[in-house]
Amino acid sequence: LGHHEFTITPRRGELIVYDKFSRSLINHIILPVPNKITKGVLISPTVYGNLLLGPTAEDLTDKTNTATSEAGLQLLLEKGREILPDLMQEEITATYAGLRAATEHKDYQIRSHPEQGYVCVGGIRSTGVSGAMGIAVYVAELLAEAGLALNAKPIFQPVYMPNIGEATPRPYQRPDLIAQNPDYGRIVCHCEKVTRGEIEDALHSVIPAQTLDGLRRRTRALQGRCQGFNCQAELVAALDEAKPD
Ligand SMILES: Cc1cc2nc3c(=O)[nH]c(=O)nc-3n(C[C@H](O)[C@H](O)[C@H](O)COP(=O)(O)OP(=O)(O)OC[C@H]3O[C@@H](n4cnc5c(N)ncnc54)[C@H](O)[C@@H]3O)c2cc1C
Repeated sequence: LGHHEFTITPRRGELIVYDKFSRSLINHIILPVPNKITKGVLISPTVYGNLLLGPTAEDLTDKTNTATSEAGLQLLLEKGREILPDLMQEEITATYAGLRAATEHKDYQIRSHPEQGYVCVGGIRSTGVSGAMGIAVYVAELLAEAGLALNAKPIFQPVYMPNIGEATPRPYQRPDLIAQNPDYGRIVCHCEKVTRGEIEDALHSVIPAQTLDGLRRRTRALQGRCQGFNCQAELVAALDEAKPD
């Protein structure tokens, strides 16, 4: 479209996920004072009941490099030891990395080009979740100013995702659901307490899971401390059964 106002530089953040046994070590997020580049390495509970240590902040050139590194993980362990020494006794479940969409500018890059019918929303660095609602409202305003008619749908059907966090009871904790369908009482993934009922729901949902990875993202099966050692065979068989002939 002929715009060259910014360049995305991937800023890698590596993280360590600790086993759920570590969860009781803290009651809230422990966050150091942020600096210009990053808010720093923090320790945070996750909605799934783990503890998370991270992230690092490292500018890369390769936009596909989501690998963790020895240096990155070492740095995290050093910072983690300073913040919460007891964490070092806990088991690590997984490590991973993500790339932030950093640019040469400090702020988000949101620009309207009404003559092209185009709004650019980029450079949403590391505050994309917190900023998402505000960004959406702002972009809707830009679109309206550009002349787009924004009419509310007469019937709005919200999309609900199944609860896979720990804020509300999961299916295995709900006798009412289990009475309706005993598969909600049959645990397949014991680490994350994912039931056969939830697996079947994910395999037959509006956008059904078709791969192990799809099933993992929808249910958290394979994400726990055994990383699929115990449940993978049953998940593969369930995927196979659900495939149309
Ligand atoms: C290290 C790091 C730290 C961060 N810290 C914070 C923070 O503290 N606070 C905050 O608010 N934000 C933070 N962010 C930013 C936040 O994570 C992102 O802004 C947010 O996740 C973006 O959400 P999204 O749904 O747009 O995209 P994503 O979360 O990237 O989701 C896109 C999904 O689409 C899938 N996908 C991609 N291509 C395809 C395809 N072709 N077909 C099917 N699926 C596809 C991807 O697998 C992915 O699951 C951080 C980001 C990083 C990397």
